[in-house]
Amino acid sequence: KRINAKGYAVHSKTDTFKPFEFSRHSMGDNDILIEIMYAGICHSDIHSARSEWHEGIYPMVPGHEIAGKVVAVGKNVTKFKVGDYAGVGCMVNSCGECEACKRSHEQFCERGQTVLTYDCKDHFHNDEPTYGGYSNNIVVSEKFAITVPKDAPMEKVAPLLCAGITTYSPLKFSGVKKGDVVGVAGFGGLGSMAVKYAVNMGADVYVFARNDKKKKEALEMGAKDLFTSTKDIPIRFDLIISTIPTGYDVNNYVDLLKYGGEMAIVGLPPAELKQSIDLARLIFSGGKKVYGSMIGGIKETQEMLDFSLKHKIYPETEIIAANQIDEAYQKLTSGQAKFRYVIDMKTL
Ligand code: NDP
Ligand code: ZN
Repeated sequence: KRINAKGYAVHSKTDTFKPFEFSRHSMGDNDILIEIMYAGICHSDIHSARSEWHEGIYPMVPGHEIAGKVVAVGKNVTKFKVGDYAGVGCMVNSCGECEACKRSHEQFCERGQTVLTYDCKDHFHNDEPTYGGYSNNIVVSEKFAITVPKDAPMEKVAPLLCAGITTYSPLKFSGVKKGDVVGVAGFGGLGSMAVKYAVNMGADVYVFARNDKKKKEALEMGAKDLFTSTKDIPIRFDLIISTIPTGYDVNNYVDLLKYGGEMAIVGLPPAELKQSIDLARLIFSGGKKVYGSMIGGIKETQEMLDFSLKHKIYPETEIIAANQIDEAYQKLTSGQAKFRYVIDMKTL
């Protein structure tokens, strides 16, 4: 039997959010049903809702930073029981059989069967469109749900499921250690998490932002300084993570890497703002590595969540009501937002 759901959707790339009723696929034996308590607003939601990367699937219910309570479990489910807390991030399924899936890099399923939480066809359910977390519930395979302890602050847990894992993963991949010099470009939802994790790992952290409005916050989080330009920077970096969602020149950051330094790119600007790396500049200042990173696998997401709770590394959040999503998008795209807006689903 299909599961009734309600949430907020846009019906085109220029639409505003409106209440929306829909249904989700019925629960399989390995699925759990989560009653959503909080959903974070990631900048990817904005890119998707506005079709900035590719033409979206409408009506669209964004949201992939989901924290809630398990209210039903399929008969084969072992990881959860009714009443437990759970989290869901950017994906809800994958083939489970290819090399990438077996290594728990499900976001890179080699058969192209990664099912994203929204704006995606669900290959495992007749290609029906997926709907995300700006809603009251979600059905998900238990494998793709993250275990959350009962005493966790759920409004802080939600953004960890994307902003947390997306920044934790490259810091681990690059093996950041005590004394490394780490730059974080873009200081919003993701950038602030990158700063907190890198500081916790013992790195000397510097923030790059467009202005110094949040310098105080950067220093409070343990950053050494905040720069508003890449010009005349006397420091060279072991790792720079870019979380910038708008047009900018990547090369200016590559120039600031040490020999052997790495640039991890997670921010993905709109497709029309074609980004490029200048090969001559890359070669003449060689010995640097530039890579892209997409969220993290399920195993690593669980590790990130456990690590964050253990070290009390939480996102800076501002709770909003479900009818304030448009306002939050407006602030996030006009330099008026601080860090993460989180929707309280009680207001749905
Ligand atoms: P936010 O809007 O919360 O933060 C972006 C920050 O970047 C803002 O503080 C903004 O500052 C700043 N910024 C914008 N332009 C520049 C610039 N030219 N130089 C320096 N700083 C700049 O976004 P999120 O953190 O939620 O997401 C960031 C990006 O990461 C998005 O593109 C998103 O799609 C992507 N993303 C990628 C994932 C992945 O798996 N690779 C996963 C999740 C997100 P201001 O306030 O001045 O605008
Ligand atoms: Zn996200």
